[in-house]
Order: sequence, then C-alpha cells, then structure tokens
Amino acid sequence: MLGSLLLAGSRMPLVRRAVSGVPLTRKVVDRFVAGEDVRQAVKAIRRLTDADLAVTIDHLGEETRDADAAAATANAYVVLLDALRELGLGSRAEVSVKLSAVGQALGADGDKIALENARRICEAAAGVESNVTFDMEDHTTVDSTLAILRAVREDFPATGVALQAYLFRTEEDCRDLSHEGSRVRLVKGAYAEPASVAHQDKGEVDKAYVRCLRILMAGQGYPMVATHDDRLISITETLADRFGRSRGGYEYQMLYGIRTDKQQALAGAGHTMRVYVPYGDDWYGYFMRRLAERPANIAFFLRALGGK
Ligand code: FAD
Repeated sequence: MLGSLLLAGSRMPLVRRAVSGVPLTRKVVDRFVAGEDVRQAVKAIRRLTDADLAVTIDHLGEETRDADAAAATANAYVVLLDALRELGLGSRAEVSVKLSAVGQALGADGDKIALENARRICEAAAGVESNVTFDMEDHTTVDSTLAILRAVREDFPATGVALQAYLFRTEEDCRDLSHEGSRVRLVKGAYAEPASVAHQDKGEVDKAYVRCLRILMAGQGYPMVATHDDRLISITETLADRFGRSRGGYEYQMLYGIRTDKQQALAGAGHTMRVYVPYGDDWYGYFMRRLAERPANIAFFLRALGGK
C-alpha cells in the first residue's frame, strides 16, 4: 500500500519538490546513488571493480521532454564511456540506458530520436569494448523498447535489455529473446502497473520470475539474473546445473548499495556479479522506486530526516 503510494508520488511534481527540497534527503540518496558527476561515479566504479565486482552504469534521468535534453543525456554517456577507456575495464564496465531519457517520450518522433541517441551510445560503448543494456520502464514502453533493441542489434548485437517478470507478456518476450547472442536482464519489475497487464501479488510475481528464468536458462542467450532475492538466486543455481551452464554462462546483478555482503559473497564464489551504479543529479524517480520496494528503506529515510 505504502509502496504504491510512493510509486504514484514519484510521478507528481508537488511530491517531487517536497522530497527534493529536504536537505537531509541527500544523505539517504547517497546510499543508493554513486555521486552527482562522472568523477564521483568513476571513484565508485574503481572501488567496486577493485573488489572483483563488474558494473553497469546508469546516468540518472527519465522521461525527457525535449530533444536537446535527450541529446545531452546521450552526450553524458559518451563522456562517461570515454572516462571508462582510461580504466581499461572492457565489458566489466557496461552502461544501462533508459530510452525515455534519450527521447522515447517525445511524441511522434520519440522512437526515432531515441534510436539515434541509443546508436550513438552503443557506438561509444563498442569503442571501449563495452556493452549497453536498455532498462525497461512502464508497460506502455515495452513494444517501443524492444523495437529499438532489434534495430540497434543489427549493428551492435551485444546490446541487451531488461524484461520484467511481473508483466503477463514477459514469458513470451523471454522466448523471443532466448536465442544465441541475446542478453536479457530479468527483473521483477519496479513500476506501478495495472492488474490488466501485470501480476499484483508478490508471490505470483516470484512464480512468474521462475518461469521466465527457466526459459532464459534453458535457451541459448546470456541470462543476467537481477535480483536480491536469495530464493531466486538458489533456483538460478539449480537451473544452471540442470541446463549445464557454467559460471561464465550467466551472471548476477544487484543495485548499488543493496545487499553488498551478498554481492561480495557471489563474486567470491566465482560468479560474475554486476552492480548497477546510478549517478547524476536527476535521482528522484530512481530513489522513490527504491523506497517503494522496501518499507525498511522508508524507516531509514525517516531516521535520517530526524538526524539519526
Ligand atoms: P524483492 O522481493 O523486492 O527483494 C528481495 C530482498 O532483497 C528483500 O527482502 C531485501 O532484503 C532486498 N531488497 C530488495 N530491494 C531492496 C531495496 N530497495 N532496498 C534494500 N533492500 C532491498 N526494474 C525495472 O522495472 N526495470 C529495470 O530496468 C530494472 N533494472 C534493474 C537492474 C538491476 C541490476 C536490479 C537488481 C534491479 C532492477 N530493477 C528494474 C528493479 C527490480 O524490478 C526490482 O524492483 C528490485 O530488484 C527488487 O526486486 P528483488 O528481485 O530484489 O526482490
């Protein structure tokens, strides 16, 4: 209930102003966001990769409403990828892109603008032997995101995409994207979706996740298992055994600042453990989704506001 309210609030300008205006909010945001600029992001990336973790970096922002801002976001990725060149991490440091941040939400021309910007980012990533994964946003964007993925993959076949287990359609999308060379990040899903398109019950979402995971692990692609859920991680191990996938045949992903002990344990056990590292000043939507996922985060937020 509280989670749904927070997700609804994340799209209201008034709530945005109220939350962003509280000075101590920053202290809590820092738990989930790796800094405001490339310099701070690179520092966090260094720390993580020195600890044997891989990363996928997100320049924060979403639902860009003008073409200049969309191009500026694409530029920010190009600058970031250039900074990664010096670190020489190759595909250990990838980037994650929200297509709505690079133009998808710009009306009739949105898909075209997003495709052009996405191509620029993929080109810059290829230049440093890195990859791009498209995040998945609310259900109205799925067809467009998958169409842009198909177009981009013609030149950059390693481009990946996130699929959300809570959507009824996703088992079918997993089947379509379980072919050789395909990279799919499976997540539960973080947006407030109507009952007409998505499971509402947490248990049903978990079951759907397992069905999707099974399709991806049995397929020919490269599954990226993005969850902090111990049960799903242990099911992944069972499926890896069943389908003869070695440790290099799939990877785990978790969010920056969440279950860092588990991240280290999986990396220590020889898994590729990739941390999703968001940075930038447009942190509001991302931050609200993290609060909505877990009541304990709200308590943490309120304690910080109280100065504790
Ligand atoms: P849950 O059942 O939510 O959590 C399992 C356990 O993990 C919890 O009990 C708790 O211990 C811990 N945990 C989970 N969330 C938090 C939190 N916020 N703070 C503290 N502890 C927590 N969603 C999209 O819709 N589109 C995307 O493109 C997308 N990309 C993602 C990329 C990565 C790498 C990851 C890890 C998640 C992404 N998500 C995305 C978010 C995802 O959909 C879920 O909302 C989120 O991962 C929580 O689900 P869970 O699988 O961890 O399971």
